[in-house]
Amino acid sequence: MSHPVSERLQGGCACGHIRYRLERNPIVVHCCHCHTCQRMSGSAFSINAMIETDQVTLIGDGVPTTSTDNPMMHRCPKCLLPLWGNHPMFGKDMAFVRVGNLDKADQLAPEVHYFTASKHPWVAIPPHVPAFEQGNEGDSVLGKEAQSRLNIVLEHKQ
Ligand SMILES: [Zn+2]
Ligand SMILES: [Zn+2]
Repeated sequence: MSHPVSERLQGGCACGHIRYRLERNPIVVHCCHCHTCQRMSGSAFSINAMIETDQVTLIGDGVPTTSTDNPMMHRCPKCLLPLWGNHPMFGKDMAFVRVGNLDKADQLAPEVHYFTASKHPWVAIPPHVPAFEQGNEGDSVLGKEAQSRLNIVLEHKQ
């Protein structure tokens, strides 16, 4: 028996003030090897789960905060850990959840890799996973259901 998504996909910040769960599987999980993601993550890449913001439920007392510097990034107000961001292309109704904050982050393997032109040479991408040298070069990797979930968010974008 597999667990319901909401039991599987829970996460939180470093200090424990913010706890959340994803109510369904993400639309897509992507791994970005661009220089900005490398710098922001302090690592070789970032992994983000794209999901409708209303499918991210807070389950603790903590409420994420944003700063006027970066109104797109939602952080824990206490430990300041980034939790999820919005993207100008998708608006506030789409969350890019930082996969590493999930308790079982290993359950969300990247389904696509971007900006592999700046990928660190020691990072190996499995051969069956789509990878693009720059951003998504027009080839959509989304299945039908994922594409329609994405379209719903874009249609209602404010
Ligand atoms: Zn915290
Ligand atoms: Zn990036």
